[in-house]
Amino acid sequence: MAKKVAIVTGSGRGIGLGIALKIAKDLDLNIVVVDIDDATMADAVKQIKALGKDAIAVKCDVSNGTDVENMVKKAFEFGDVDVVVNNAGITRDAMMLKMEEKDFDLVININLKAIWFICKAVCARWVATAKAKAEAAAPKPATPPAPGAKPEEAKFEPSFYPKKRIINISSIVAKVGNVGQTNYTASKAGVIAMTKSIAKEMSRYNINANCIQPGFIKTPMTDKMPEKQIQRFIAEIPLARMGLPEDIARAVKFLASEDSDYITGISLEVAGGLNM
Ligand code: NAP
Repeated sequence: MAKKVAIVTGSGRGIGLGIALKIAKDLDLNIVVVDIDDATMADAVKQIKALGKDAIAVKCDVSNGTDVENMVKKAFEFGDVDVVVNNAGITRDAMMLKMEEKDFDLVININLKAIWFICKAVCARWVATAKAKAEAAAPKPATPPAPGAKPEEAKFEPSFYPKKRIINISSIVAKVGNVGQTNYTASKAGVIAMTKSIAKEMSRYNINANCIQPGFIKTPMTDKMPEKQIQRFIAEIPLARMGLPEDIARAVKFLASEDSDYITGISLEVAGGLNM
């Protein structure tokens, strides 16, 4: 049997790396590490292999459709892709009056359009496989159907459509907006709405799609913020601390496991109560 695989984008470091390690260990998944930095990817693969799971690194700019198609092809050659975690994301902050169009477009392309590219490429393969199984199992009529008649469709069989899962990483700021982030908040709110549409379109193929909205999480993305600003943010968090990549990873593990089989189209806030 082919090995069970999860694609995790932006898993060279930060939240993505935390997610990759958690689901590899706890859900017995092998990981396709997707990122743009060779060194961080190599290190991530090493850490996953040290857990006794297999991993490959696939360098891919997720905002490039050709890169994504190649990456998804390699992932399906690596094993049986069951889970996709769309985590790669960037910020290019500036007040709206100063923000340049190129930074608006870059953030939308990496944080939002990339998820559309990846979900489209992965779901096309999942649906094609399921349809082929259904067709192979369809009852063959004793006499050929009359010209123009619709061939009989195979009944839904869970084995044709094994559960597949998409988890998209949005942000708590999608809910409330944020100064200096017109590009980022728009991209992250778009992720939530797009995930709901994917959930509705794909549910008949047994594909669940959900979002997570992290709050303020300690990673290289937030490490570059001034200490004073970090303390100001922490003062707003009811649970009175920054989140850690593991906090997000535990929620991803839930949405990637059978414990969440009946959950689709939701967005789960993992934010220590921030902006509740
Ligand atoms: P991070 O430390 O900056 O990690 C993001 C990873 O994505 C990096 O490894 C980065 O590669 C990779 N990446 C960037 N652009 C890419 C592209 N075009 N194609 C492929 N990979 C790309 O960020 P993080 O804090 O872990 O954030 C992860 C996700 O959580 C993001 O979607 C972010 O918006 C979201 N989030 C974070 C927070 C937070 O407080 N940290 C809060 C809410 C939501 P490089 O290292 O080479 O740049």
